[in-house]
Amino acid sequence: MKSPDNPKHPAQRLADAPRCTATAKSTGCRCNSPAVKGWKVCRMHGARGGAPSGPANGRWRHGNRTRAGDDMRRMMAQLVREARDTAKALGGI
Ligand SMILES: [Zn+2]
Repeated sequence: MKSPDNPKHPAQRLADAPRCTATAKSTGCRCNSPAVKGWKVCRMHGARGGAPSGPANGRWRHGNRTRAGDDMRRMMAQLVREARDTAKALGGI
């Protein structure tokens, strides 16, 4: 059904959707089913799902790739971006 905020026909939206990048085991060819929104693969090739999370399911090798570490890195990068933007706005750099 067409809606005012998305004028395309649903079938056309599906046809225009990004394609799954997985290789099908059965054919050896690329899957090419529509990928799930925000994913590179379709629902049959691992979109969503994933391993259980939480401290009991950790695969600890080092602390570099923990969720907390990623959040910290993201926050630091955001701070650096904001500082750079502020410096640019003030005429520095
Ligand atoms: Zn697929």
